[in-house]
Amino acid sequence: MTSYFEVEQRDGAARIGKILFPTPVRTPYIIDTASLNDAHSPITDAGSIWNISIEEAEERIRKIREEVGDETIIILPHQDLTLEVPEDVVMKISERTEVESTGPIGRIFRKGVDVKKADLYVMEGAGSLEGNARKFLERLIDLKGSVAPDTAIYLPNLCTPANAAMLVYLGIDIVDDTKAIIAGCSDIYMTTAGKYFLDSMTELPCRCEACAPITIEELRAMPKADRAELISRHNRNMLEAEIVLARERIRSGNLREYIEGQCRTEPWLAALLRLSDTQYDYMEKQTPIARSNQMLATTSESMTRPEVVRFAKRIQERYTPPESEILVLFPCSAKKPYSISNSHNKFIKSLGKYRKFVHEVILTSPLGIIPRELEMTYPAAHYDAVVTGYWDAEEIKWVSACLRDYLSKHKYSHVVAHLEGAYREICEIVSEQLSIEFIYTSTGNVSSYDSLDNLKKTVSDIVAEREYKQNRSRIDMMRSIADYQFGPGAGKLIVPDDAKIKAPFPKHQVFIGKEQIATMIPQYGILALTVAGIRLLSNSEEYSGYTVTIDDFLPRGSLLAPGVVAADKNIRPGDEVMITGSKAIGVGRAMMSGEEMVGSSRGVAVDLRHVKKAD
Ligand SMILES: [Zn+2]
Repeated sequence: MTSYFEVEQRDGAARIGKILFPTPVRTPYIIDTASLNDAHSPITDAGSIWNISIEEAEERIRKIREEVGDETIIILPHQDLTLEVPEDVVMKISERTEVESTGPIGRIFRKGVDVKKADLYVMEGAGSLEGNARKFLERLIDLKGSVAPDTAIYLPNLCTPANAAMLVYLGIDIVDDTKAIIAGCSDIYMTTAGKYFLDSMTELPCRCEACAPITIEELRAMPKADRAELISRHNRNMLEAEIVLARERIRSGNLREYIEGQCRTEPWLAALLRLSDTQYDYMEKQTPIARSNQMLATTSESMTRPEVVRFAKRIQERYTPPESEILVLFPCSAKKPYSISNSHNKFIKSLGKYRKFVHEVILTSPLGIIPRELEMTYPAAHYDAVVTGYWDAEEIKWVSACLRDYLSKHKYSHVVAHLEGAYREICEIVSEQLSIEFIYTSTGNVSSYDSLDNLKKTVSDIVAEREYKQNRSRIDMMRSIADYQFGPGAGKLIVPDDAKIKAPFPKHQVFIGKEQIATMIPQYGILALTVAGIRLLSNSEEYSGYTVTIDDFLPRGSLLAPGVVAADKNIRPGDEVMITGSKAIGVGRAMMSGEEMVGSSRGVAVDLRHVKKAD
């Protein structure tokens, strides 16, 4: 619950927000630590109760409010405790030191102590967690899981230019310049690539306003206090530039790609990345369902990022293949969607009239396996991976596991593998593990005349054996996307057997009779539904999900979080959701996760597209 903080934009756990003062303060924000004692700064620390009595603390708060009104977040008086203090002692002390205030307030988060309404929560003792990735993440997830989702999180005494982007990636809204200033006083020069002792440097690798006018020799010759002031100013400039860069990356949806590289500067940051990927539930629920920009897969951690793991999980849990009995496996192509690439064009031509009898699945790293019907769906058509022709052991293990899971669940009479190299190695591993025979059709080069002819012959021979079911590729595609997006069973409701698919690929539209049900959005490869489409889901007894229940009003334009009564836990930012209430039925795009809609008191929950009066 918060009244003075609002999240405006999200990308995963990272977010851009604002503190709602007459002149709004944008987050992620860097507190000038020295200003914490100044009531005229956006955030004021009412101080430690080790030093003053509760009465004095109350008097201090009254004075601050008198001076600046509600234009500063007051961090309520607290007793600073180290992380080693046992929980029961923490609870006792917290009970004894409760001081309240009206207006915007911040509180110290204490595990085990009840969370109260606040605009900001402080992760106490964060500074002592530098270097300890496991403990840091545990504390952070504890804190995030306890407070309302639209509470600003302040991490004191930890931020540096090297770790700032990672902290933002993990969901921190407010940091301070303590470390940057202290480093400056010790002749430590900070960069995003790490810190250097001034003595060990030959040049100044920066052109900020502090560094540009001087040489390193001039800097060394300065009196200590001036030198400290200048290096601190540079450190602070680096910190600000990095926070601005992180905000830009949030806006363009590629902060993850940045931190996958940036985290290499300090081992504990790389550990944070890996450990945060193992916290799949925390990270995934905040990760948008689709982005229109490219997803770069250039590191070994690209394989464990939430988008990739979610895609593989949904193939396992939500996807139902068409009823084909003949599976054809292909390698991926650099060009996406695959079917417009040169190699896939040749495959498709070779299959010719037999194509309607086979089901096509593409093997790829890092996504695992991609059924042809989902080749447009994020991130299948959006990733760009490093291509060297060499696959490392982890990639082979991961893609084999995806293929093995798939073939354990879905049975085919024939598995044709038209691929080479590591792809073939993967097929051989799975073939042996499951005792399934694979028919290999490539003879050295998947695009050679010989290989393509062999593919065609193999498939035509199989088809000649007996009668096989035919695919309805356009219906299959729309159905698979619906299942992927809304969960198993949704596909058959939105795209029943008598549905017609209109408009050319990839702008397919689903019609039942004269009524339009859904449209594919080509840049994301997901469906947008009409109210008629939503009714097909909401009227079904077998299906429930992706619903946002609202109070008895008719919303217009956007649905704000306070109007949400309940929301499905599966809803992710960017999801297509149905709105139901006693007065309205509608459809729109979720701007936050379902959990966040319920827990937030500010912000746009759903961007509405169609709303009608409920009948
Ligand atoms: Zn500089």
